[in-house]
Amino acid sequence: MEWLSRIFGKKEQTGHARPAQVFFFNTLSGNKELFISQKPGIATMYTCGPTVYGQQHIGNLRPGMLSDTIARTLGAANYRVHRVINITDVGHLVGDGDKGADKIAVGAEREKTTPQAIADRYAKQFIEDLADLNIDTADIDFPRATDYIKEQIALAKTLEEKGFAYFLPDGLYFDTQKFPGYGKLGGLGGAHLTAGARVEVVKGKRHPSDFVLWRRAKVNDLQQWDSPWGRGNPGWHIECSAMIRSLLGQEIDIHTGGEDLAQIHHNNEIAQSEAASGRTFVHYWLHNAFLTMSGEKISKSLGNVVHLSDIIAKGFDPLALRYFYLQAHYRTPLSFSWDALAGAAEALGRLQRLARDIAEESRRVSEPSEARERFLVAMRDDLSTPQALAVIWEVLRSEEYTPEEKWGLILDAEAHLGLSLTNSTAPAPRESAAAPKEVLDMLAKREKARMDKDFASADRLRSDIENSGYRVDDGPNGPVLTRTTL
Ligand code: AMP
Ligand code: ZN
Repeated sequence: MEWLSRIFGKKEQTGHARPAQVFFFNTLSGNKELFISQKPGIATMYTCGPTVYGQQHIGNLRPGMLSDTIARTLGAANYRVHRVINITDVGHLVGDGDKGADKIAVGAEREKTTPQAIADRYAKQFIEDLADLNIDTADIDFPRATDYIKEQIALAKTLEEKGFAYFLPDGLYFDTQKFPGYGKLGGLGGAHLTAGARVEVVKGKRHPSDFVLWRRAKVNDLQQWDSPWGRGNPGWHIECSAMIRSLLGQEIDIHTGGEDLAQIHHNNEIAQSEAASGRTFVHYWLHNAFLTMSGEKISKSLGNVVHLSDIIAKGFDPLALRYFYLQAHYRTPLSFSWDALAGAAEALGRLQRLARDIAEESRRVSEPSEARERFLVAMRDDLSTPQALAVIWEVLRSEEYTPEEKWGLILDAEAHLGLSLTNSTAPAPRESAAAPKEVLDMLAKREKARMDKDFASADRLRSDIENSGYRVDDGPNGPVLTRTTL
């Protein structure tokens, strides 16, 4: 069974399982690369988290799903993963550049409260949303920018001492032309940014891509601290560099975030961290594509936001959203609609019921199989969740595998995807089971028509079912038949 030890990792003499091979698409190189951690068996990962000035929408939760899928996949490949997701509670200005109001101050004004209260409220809600998505929040550090002011000042000071910064009347700026290779991430060439292109012009800046490290306070700034450059507050980018340095070290394995962050925010993080340490900052950069709705990015400024709380209020299990995310590869834009979510809920319900039946048939005894290898290969090939889900559906519905082999696959699926397949409480379709075979056949055909988006046939089948004395309700766990005549 050579392949088994290759995939599951051989036991080393120390008793620690050797990590299995995992490949990630690295935005830095533009290639899929074998993951090699700095320290054997340990992976450090940082994710740019939310600016907590309002409730996070389901687009903002996609980066959380990416980092969770990485952590689960590396965990199952025998890595110990140290994870950090920061909470931005100061410094991020409306418009993302170096001008404008601080988003947290805007939130505080809107809700007539303090920056701290706004940050507390929405950070808590964000972490609860992640937990609802079955992300293990106890295993993640959630540092806040305002708790690392001292560290941000120290880093800015180092950059100034090393000649990478210059002072203007409104603050201390990073001189991007002093840092060779500025803008290397994503081949986007941040050094070629021109004035007015996304970055607002600040008078006296030496180059349009230069960015603020420390901003001098305006009189009415709600959050301000003493610093060598006067009272003020940190620039947005420096918090990530400072918190990574404090919590994970000067050189980390993985950094993730939404793809919109790569061009400016992440190139600026690289510039600050590498200029200060002289070392490689991050070895693997992974970025998720956007969640869209009706062809547009879901975003607060476009006003087309959906929150996890809206999804729960409509009676969906949050795991339906999890399943929905996993149906697409993380580097593919994903289009949200309520119909698509309902489809994901139905599919998840069916999968959970299949898994529960297999739990019984196998008596929860697992056996290895070639199917498990195919599943692991998909997950370890840059987190190919659509292919991994396809393997699960194919195998669980097939007669070629024993219940024990299927249960083995379900255990792997649960570890990597977290879809509550091993402890599902999805209701059994009892009413459905009691219905006559021709009604069940019509129900199955209607399900297929719905999956194929053939709504005319689905509607016709629904009225055929009703004419046979049954009603169909599409619940979050799949369709339920209820008898309407005696
Ligand atoms: P923000 O609160 O705007 O700083 O965003 C927090 C995280 O969510 C960042 O990693 C963004 O790149 C990401 N993000 C924002 N909008 C979307 C979206 N529609 N789809 C996917 N990721 C998003
Ligand atoms: Zn960041």
